[in-house]
Formats: sequence, structure tokens, C-alpha cells
Amino acid sequence: MLNLSVLLEDSARKYPTKDAFIYGDTHLTYAQVNGAANQFANGLKATGIKPGDKVALSCLNVPYFPIAFYGILKAGGVVVPLSVLLKREEVVYHLADSDAKAYCCFLGAPGLPMLEEGFAAFGEVDGCEDFVVITAKTSDPSPIEGTSTMGALMEGQVVTTDTAATGADDTAVIVYTSGTTGRPKGAELSHSNLFLNAILSADLTGATTQDVTLTVLPMFHIFALTLQLNASLYRGMTNVLLARFDAEDVFGLMERHRVTIFAGVPTMYWGLLNYKGEQFDLKAIAANLKSCLSGGASLPVTVINEFKARFGIDILEGYGMSEGSPVVTFNQADVGRKAGSIGTPVWGVSVKVVDEAGREVPVGEKGEIVYKGHNVMKGYYNKPDATAESIVDGWLHSGDVGRMDEDGFFYVVDRTKDMIIRGGLNVYPREVEDVMLRHEAVSMVAVIGVPDEEYGEEIRACVVLKEGHDPAADDLISWTKERIAAYKYPRSVEFLAALPQSATGKILKKELRKG
Ligand code: ATP
Repeated sequence: MLNLSVLLEDSARKYPTKDAFIYGDTHLTYAQVNGAANQFANGLKATGIKPGDKVALSCLNVPYFPIAFYGILKAGGVVVPLSVLLKREEVVYHLADSDAKAYCCFLGAPGLPMLEEGFAAFGEVDGCEDFVVITAKTSDPSPIEGTSTMGALMEGQVVTTDTAATGADDTAVIVYTSGTTGRPKGAELSHSNLFLNAILSADLTGATTQDVTLTVLPMFHIFALTLQLNASLYRGMTNVLLARFDAEDVFGLMERHRVTIFAGVPTMYWGLLNYKGEQFDLKAIAANLKSCLSGGASLPVTVINEFKARFGIDILEGYGMSEGSPVVTFNQADVGRKAGSIGTPVWGVSVKVVDEAGREVPVGEKGEIVYKGHNVMKGYYNKPDATAESIVDGWLHSGDVGRMDEDGFFYVVDRTKDMIIRGGLNVYPREVEDVMLRHEAVSMVAVIGVPDEEYGEEIRACVVLKEGHDPAADDLISWTKERIAAYKYPRSVEFLAALPQSATGKILKKELRKG
């Protein structure tokens, strides 16, 4: 048997009095978190939740998240993390699609404007009379005090539970992909999928029990769920939680708690580099940092270089996805690192680049990235056709265009679905974006295809400018034209104050394409 909650239980045995989580002024020890998760599991069982039942969890990065997450697992339930940004209709879809028996949301968590809606939506899912809604109401933004569910914890009671004897291959979590194509699909990840990925994540970052990690990426997304939540509990680290990205808050917490490990998506690194405040000792902050990780989207080499110049530290890029638990490749210390590359396959995972017929392409050529190993999901929940399309002979087809170099390092060229076909020629937006980012006035850029009568699709750059710069669109276009093949440079530029982002901070090109 294997129950993922062993990550918490083992560390609670080994380091009972150590801080597991810090949120604002709230410090929770490993023993407290484990006790609260036990209590949560008992509460779920009392409401009739049985092993194998799906329990949705919508929560920002506050201590309720880990308490509920491991509580559900201890009860034998399957956690269905939901983005806190989902609108009412989307919540209804996800609850129905996952056959959720319960929906955990926390009305007291700060800044959750949609929760009232999600809460109300629950009763509208067909045939869900037996659904329970678990809420821990509190008017106090402090996540622990004053809530009935967690009251006993703070009074120091020792709460126990019988952790369900789940099998290693049983489903532990169903994570929904954002559904750029079609409706969101739930990737079923087993206890062993997630357990192995947590262990290797802790190893990849060189994490020790002394490390302090800052989790600002939402834990309802697979990246933070594995690399920060599960990995930090496995290693017995202290995890500082931040509910929403803000460069000043990030630097403030890094300074206050001497953070050693940070993980972000590229837009967050952009945000940190553009921070202009002067109240923090950035040198001291940088001296404490030992690992900065990036994933989820392409990290421009210009960002890696600027970050290195400012903070003296390499951002380590990895590649993964919900279907891969998530880590597939990483810039690993023992194998070597290359800026601009997503690194090499992680332990126990094979990766190759294939053509449309599934044949491996020669070194350096572009094709689809596919992978095989302990990290591959069981399948999409209740979607056998989509699963069969995605996993062929055990190889998971990523939908990403990539290549491998002669040293075995992999590169993401772009997402298949973001590729622009202009007059029959393929244009990979990332290549154009990398060039444009070298322009002194460009802070952020997303290149998209827009419908065009003559060429089918035409290339447009959506640009956020750096403060104090005001170039004409034509200047940017001709600057790019000098540095890139004629069919690739943007024919129009749209200046925007900001680029639309997902809850994880990924740039939403589909929103830009809508115009
Ligand atoms: P979708 O449903 O559209 O796949 P998603 O972005 O929510 O949505 P995730 O599982 O969160 O899906 O993200 C996986 C995708 O993120 C990968 O398929 C890849 O396109 C992209 N990605 C992850 N890491 C990197 C990286 N280092 N470089 C480039 N792209 C990356």
C-alpha cells in the first residue's frame, strides 16, 4: 500500500515541533498540520466520504490547503484541486465531470470573490443530493483562528485517524488541464506517480531539511503541488505560503524568513526583475537563495541572464505538465545545465522527439516531445478516447514541439497549438519573442497569429513596454525584421499595459487571439 499522506506523517514523526508552514504571522508545526489533517479526515469520514470518493478543493495558498489536501488523502479520497479563479459555470462543470462527492472551499480565505458562487453552484449539479459542502467560515483573514474545524488543533488536542490503506496505483489526485483545446480534462495521477515526483523534485533542487521554500505558485496547480508542497513535506522543509504574487511581498518574505528555494513561472521572474523598490537588501536576499526554479512556460534566456546579473544565481528551468505529475526534464546539477534548454530527462523517465508517425527524428530536428515512465498519468478521468490519443504504447504525447541536441539536452520550440502557419510556413512564436525581448524597450511580449485573407494567419506581437520607453510600432517591427527571417517578423504590434495571465501566471494567448 502507499498513501501519499505518508509524506506528511513521516515528517510529523521526525520533526514534530518544526515549522511546516508559515503564513503571515501564523506558524504551524508538522505535528499541528498532521493533527489538523487527521481531524479533517475524520470530519470527511463522518459526512460519509468513502475511499475512492472524489473531493474537490478550491483554496488559495493558505494553510487550509495542505490540511485539506492531506486530510482528503488520509480519508482515502481523491483530491480534485480546482483553480480559485473558476467562474460558477466552470465550477459546476468540474464538479460534475469529476463526480465530486464533496467540495471544500474556504469562505474565510482572503480574496476569494468567486467562492460564494462556487458554494451556491454546488446544489445545481445533477444528482448530487449527497454532496457535502465543507466550509470553514471566518471573518478573520488569519486562516486558523476562530474556525470550528481547526479549533481543536490550536487548543493542542492530539487528533488521530486511521489513514486509508490505498494502493500505490490508486488515484490520489485528479488535476484539470486548462483546456486550451476543448473542455478541461482531468488527469488522474496515482499515489506512486506523485510520491516519486515529490522525491525527485526534492533531489533536483538539492533541498535539505534546513531549507525554506516560498510557495507563491498556486498549490491547486500541479507545479507547486509537487515541487513545493509534496517535496517540502517529504524533505521536512519549512514552507512559507503567499496567496498572491506581488514582487514586494515576495522580497519581503524572502528577507524575513531567509528563503533558500523559490519557484516561479517566467512572468514572476519578469515581475521580480522589474521591481523598483529599494527597501530590501537584495544582496542579502540573493545570498540566502540557493535554488530558483522555473517551469510551466518558456523562460527567455534574456531573463536568465538578467537574473544572474542582478542576483548572482542561475534560474533552473524544468519542463513538465499535469499529465507528467509534472516533472519530465530538468537542468540537473550532476548532468550539467544549459541556459535556454529544459535540461535532460529526470530519473526513471525516457524522453524522445518524434514525427507524426511516432518515429524518432534525428538529433537537432523538430518534432513532438513524448515521454514514458513512472510520471505518466493513469489517463484522463472518464475519457478513454482522449487517453488513447494521448498515451500511445506507454508514451505520453505532450503536444509540444521540441528538439534534442547532440548532448541529449532538450528544448521546447513551442506548443503545437501556439504555432502560427503563415502562408504555409511554420512560425514558432517563441523564436520571435526571444528576439523582441532583446529590444531595450520591451518588457514582455507574446506573439500570436491573427486571421489574414492573404496568408491564412499573420503575425502580431502584443507588447508590454518598460517604464520610460515609447517606441513606435514601426520601429519595433523594423528592428525585429533586421534580426529574423522575412516570414517571421511581426506585421503588427499591439501595445498593452499587461498581458492576460492564468491563475498560475502563464500568458493566456487564447485571450489575446480573441482580440
Ligand atoms: P493546457 O490544457 O493548455 O495544456 P496548461 O498550461 O494548464 O494547459 P499544464 O499541464 O499546466 O497545462 O502545462 C503544461 C504545458 O506547459 C506543457 O505542455 C508546455 O507547453 C508548457 N511548459 C511547461 N514547462 C515548460 C518549459 N520549461 N518551457 C516551455 N513550455 C513549458
